[in-house]
Amino acid sequence: MPLNRSYPRAIVHFDADSFFASVEQVMNHNLRGKAVVTGGERGAATSVSIEGKKLGLYRGMSLRDMKKMCPDVVIVSSDYTSYSIFARRMYSIAREFTPHVEEYSIDECFADITGLRSQFHTSYEGIAQLIQKRLHAELGITFGVGLGPSKTIAKIASKLNKPAGFTPIPTRAIPSVLSDIPIGSLWGVGYSTSFKFEKLGVHTALDFAQKTDGWLKEHGLAKPYRDIWLELNGAFVRKLATTPDDSIGSILQSRTFTPTNDRRVLFSQLAKNIEGACAKARRHGVRGSSCRFYLKTQEFTYAGKNLSMSIPLSDPREFLRLIEAHFDSVYIPGTMYRASGFGLYAITSEHAIMPDLFGETVRVESQSKLIETMDSLNQKYGKHTLHLGVSHSAVTNEDQRQVERRKRSRPRMHMSLEQKRKTINLPYLGVVR
Ligand SMILES: [Mg+2]
Repeated sequence: MPLNRSYPRAIVHFDADSFFASVEQVMNHNLRGKAVVTGGERGAATSVSIEGKKLGLYRGMSLRDMKKMCPDVVIVSSDYTSYSIFARRMYSIAREFTPHVEEYSIDECFADITGLRSQFHTSYEGIAQLIQKRLHAELGITFGVGLGPSKTIAKIASKLNKPAGFTPIPTRAIPSVLSDIPIGSLWGVGYSTSFKFEKLGVHTALDFAQKTDGWLKEHGLAKPYRDIWLELNGAFVRKLATTPDDSIGSILQSRTFTPTNDRRVLFSQLAKNIEGACAKARRHGVRGSSCRFYLKTQEFTYAGKNLSMSIPLSDPREFLRLIEAHFDSVYIPGTMYRASGFGLYAITSEHAIMPDLFGETVRVESQSKLIETMDSLNQKYGKHTLHLGVSHSAVTNEDQRQVERRKRSRPRMHMSLEQKRKTINLPYLGVVR
């Protein structure tokens, strides 16, 4: 492979724009085009949508100040399960292009695309933009993307044209970019270090890059700063911390109920968790190929079981069938239980279907029409409007508890919605095997 002088190593950095707020806008179309802020539960913005930033809202701003500045701002609570599902999808999309991907943070990753030009019949700039387009098309959110000969340079580049920008910095262009980067905003340079740099007359990244090896030694700069200095001079030093794509991640659902030893009631409670977790997986376009279910006794001890499927799934009936067969190895008759839970693991995108299991896939796909219909009805009329017959006791029990709670407490604002849900509770009584 001939050495590429612009990119002896081609490292791309992807940084999602307004990540949490963007995910909220993708999940709820009513929020699109609006100033949306996450962090409602904290009292301060953890993320501000692109529209909100244009109005002057910023991360860390108190919710009160934001309402004052922008009365129409929509403030939502953080939903970290959804954010991490989007993050995992981002990593796995990048991995479709190269196995060398570093999951740097929930909304950032690095990818090493060195040597892939002939495979994709395009330049490194072309490959980086291909991935950027894929991320946007698949996730519905935009990314700031930077390309450079090292992680340090790529990370500088991705910030330069946000939102949705793409900035390539080939080796020869590094000095011209560094002159505009304040030393304190360099990745890896903290507040107190930047203060020390300033005292030494180092104000920009370029000032630092132009120092000599002797100067670094003289001022006792430790290895991390030396690594940054080398990368500012075009070297590739900071390795990518790549992890294998074993699709780590999970969707968990658990609930506490009035203690019971009734097997039927327990199984129904568990079924409701399974339905909930699977509905969440489908909303995010993912499936899980292994699961865990557990029961929690009144004495707060847990018993559970891990199970695997032959292919990734999001149809609750498949998990119910599997768990039904193993339920009695966990459930002890006569024991009082107070909670149950279900977790979906080994999460992958629903598009990632293994071709050698085609027969199995076809069987599952043919059943999914029904689930799709359930999803659209539930979206229209509220969660659990239509549910599996096996969950019915748990769902109606819940409604009963809500009615009792309501009798005790004053009516709440969103009661109309709950009542709507209550009056059209339709259990689906078909195919539960
Ligand atoms: Mg970001």
